Amino acid sequence: VDMPGTDGSSEARATLHRVFGYDAFRGEQEAIIDHVVAGGDAVVLMPTGGGKSLCYQIPALVRPGTGIVVSPLIALMQDQVDALRALGVRAGFVNSSQDFDERRVVEAEFLAGELDLLYLAPERLRLDSTLDLLSRGKISVVAIDEAHCVSQWGHDFRPDYLALSLLGERWPDVPRIALTATATRATHQEITQRLNMPTARHFEASFDRPNIQYRIVPKADPKKQLLGFLREEHPGDAGIVYCLSRNSVDKTAEFLSSNGIEAVPYHAGLDAGTRAAHQARFLREEGLVVVATIAFGMGIDKPDVRFVAHLDLPKSVEGYYQETGRAGRDGLPSTAWMAYGLNDVIQQRKLIQSGEGDEAFRRRAQAHLDAMLALCETAQCRRGQLLNYFGQEPGAAGCGNCDTCLTPPETWDGTVAAQKVLSTVVRLQRERGQKFGAVQIVDILLGKRTGKVIQFDHDQLSVFGIGQELSEAEWRGVVRQLLAQGLLAVEGDYGTLVLTEASGSVLRREREVPLRKEPKRPTTAKSGSSG
Ligand code: ADP
Ligand code: ZN
Repeated sequence: VDMPGTDGSSEARATLHRVFGYDAFRGEQEAIIDHVVAGGDAVVLMPTGGGKSLCYQIPALVRPGTGIVVSPLIALMQDQVDALRALGVRAGFVNSSQDFDERRVVEAEFLAGELDLLYLAPERLRLDSTLDLLSRGKISVVAIDEAHCVSQWGHDFRPDYLALSLLGERWPDVPRIALTATATRATHQEITQRLNMPTARHFEASFDRPNIQYRIVPKADPKKQLLGFLREEHPGDAGIVYCLSRNSVDKTAEFLSSNGIEAVPYHAGLDAGTRAAHQARFLREEGLVVVATIAFGMGIDKPDVRFVAHLDLPKSVEGYYQETGRAGRDGLPSTAWMAYGLNDVIQQRKLIQSGEGDEAFRRRAQAHLDAMLALCETAQCRRGQLLNYFGQEPGAAGCGNCDTCLTPPETWDGTVAAQKVLSTVVRLQRERGQKFGAVQIVDILLGKRTGKVIQFDHDQLSVFGIGQELSEAEWRGVVRQLLAQGLLAVEGDYGTLVLTEASGSVLRREREVPLRKEPKRPTTAKSGSSG
């Protein structure tokens, strides 16, 4: 059903006000919605939180019939449907979490034309019974969420998505819209091809958030560094501090509170009432800090979050981008600040190795982490690196609003230092048949006669004390960067260091190892031992 653009367009705006209660469309929402309402196919690339849902929800409401939404996030369907129903939208879902009777009710509603939106898990569309059902009702639009799942080269490939090309053949007159928040240019093309949408219009929102200043500092005494950052740059501001574990969430919230900063914890270990109360306070009050695990933030739309701080390394660039993206929705200057150190790398690598999942899953997790580490260790513009990661072209010069642009890091030739670290690992293994973690390696290089060094006779090694030219913090920086560059690896539950295939080329002096200089941190204690 083709509709004249202006009518559909004004109806779309009216729906935005009446149903969703918003004043205006954001970015390209309007162009996308107009195009789909008029019956066109669309491929949409928009960052998480950018407002993808409205792009299919409004066409589904404006066009006659039911909008079919294919989504792999079964766990979120109930919430999405509940939220829509609260707005008066007639929505339902069909997935494997339902029993037969529940499913029958939704199917009957669909057939009676009583649904505006029907959410389906992709595997259901492989079933003839589902296709039969759909043929007996009226479809207004098909939305394919997380469309990058169709890409066989991507991290989230789902075979069920390949069957979705069928929808176009079966219902050629129904517009389709494929949406994703992660797609390189190649994935974008793959989506078009595999979903068979050759005439689709492409909409690509920028991933740039110019008002967010990105900064990643070496971790020394993280809680104190955080306190300094908040006091100096964000006194009285609302913000989110992300930590990996519930325990560190609690400790950090207490630490901030006892130092005069209003902070509350948020994690899945707290009861629902406390969580809801803390979230409500965060939304309502102006200057509250929420210390949270990544459980916090989904669906939270607070415009004046002035900073997002990470005390632990996110598992992926996607996660980092999504979490930092909660800062500065109002467009005012905001900071994405992270403290990152050697222990983060070791901990994440251990988590991947000892975690669940098959070999392919592990490889993907490892690739995600490697991209995140590359962002941490880059000497180039962080924003440029982020945009590149999402397949977008950064400006030619640096952004001028990230730490590496503002104070370009010095690099140095770390080849000899790298050889010293790797030789120590080799000697321990070859001469003693031993493997040790970073602390022992650095102690040996520094020539420290610690209890553990004496106990293992490591002061007898020829490499003992050959690294006095660098400080302990600098050596930890070297080890961290070698791990990030894949020249060293972590093994087992104890975080012992082992060589990689690439290590040999350094030991044989076949390659140089440029390293980032560890910035001096006059504001914090020189301990460096917790980084
Ligand atoms: P995505 O699916 O791209 O991650 P959502 O569709 O969940 O993003 O939208 C993110 C948030 O922005 C939601 O809270 C949504 O209600 C809000 N939002 C979307 N579009 C608008 C708009 N035009 N005006 C105000 N808020 C909006
Ligand atoms: Zn920059």
